[in-house]
Amino acid sequence: MTGLLKNSQCVLVADRFTLEAIEFIRSQISGDVIQTENLPTRELLNKATALLIRSRTKINKELIEAAPNLKVIITATSGFDHIDFELTRKKNITVMFTPDANFESAAEHTLLLMLGVLRRLNESARLLREGSWKDELKSGFELKCKTVGIIGLGRVGSRVAELLQAFGAHVIAFDPYQDDKVFEKLGLERFGLSEVFAQAEILTLHVPLNEETRRYIRAETLELAHDGLIFINTSRGRVVDEGALIAALESGQIIGAGLDVFENEPLARDSRLRKLPNVLLTPHIGAHTEEAYIKASMLAAQKLITFINTGEISDNLPLQ
Ligand code: NAD
Repeated sequence: MTGLLKNSQCVLVADRFTLEAIEFIRSQISGDVIQTENLPTRELLNKATALLIRSRTKINKELIEAAPNLKVIITATSGFDHIDFELTRKKNITVMFTPDANFESAAEHTLLLMLGVLRRLNESARLLREGSWKDELKSGFELKCKTVGIIGLGRVGSRVAELLQAFGAHVIAFDPYQDDKVFEKLGLERFGLSEVFAQAEILTLHVPLNEETRRYIRAETLELAHDGLIFINTSRGRVVDEGALIAALESGQIIGAGLDVFENEPLARDSRLRKLPNVLLTPHIGAHTEEAYIKASMLAAQKLITFINTGEISDNLPLQ
């Protein structure tokens, strides 16, 4: 692949990437570099030997069949549930991602949702927009001294733990696959899943979406939770059974939720979630910052050039 690609390649950049990243690729290879901010057409895919994407471009049968020369895909994202790995494996296509680019943004967004729910940001903003003042608003809560349960102590989960500790929250975490060293470094004890559910006053999800975690949070798991729980999800919508979450919100078992991700995106216009007053919703913008955009664009470009020049693969997908 090395050398062969370098001279006769066509890099298709099929989403928004920074000009610096595109110029960097152009300066390093002699082939074509084509950028399209729309979804890639069959004609472009037919020529592509390398494809740079974000989560909007789904790597499915139709795309793979339209791209017979494709050797490498780099997704400038930390999630990868938009890629069918059975297909890429069959076609021997190398896939890489950029998990180090956006965890800071996602962690900050998690704190934003958490604080927003605690302080009833949604309701207070609505009152002002409607011309009212705070008279009907119930008081909020501090984050300090709350027990916050983190499920998934990876990049985002670990950074959320650090930020929470700065607020004086009591952090507990469940992650059966994470190294003891990560728990030790954060000064956290290992907890079981049911212990985290039973103890957390605020629960925040930071797991990848996979066969094990699909509908991880459902009626049976929510039954283990504290009454009056606050629930935050910036991971992936399908980790949660949205119907069970709505039922728990409507029954008052969960008193507030901050959600950036949904079972189906965009969220349906008539979703009951849109109507619940104690729910703060954002349209999957956890990584939607200038900093994450710049970092992910350049990391993806560098991974591509390293791969072309040396064959070296980093942040390979699927994860082993
Ligand atoms: P990561 O791979 O660094 O961390 C995931 C952690 O989850 C790992 O430590 C892993 O051991 C743990 N885990 C896996 N299966 C688990 C299970 N069954 N129970 C408990 N823990 C389990 O990933 P990350 O970069 O921290 O991202 C976390 C999630 O956040 C992903 O779903 C990612 O797609 C999502 N994300 C969303 C946004 C956004 O825009 N909202 C931005 C960044 C990341």
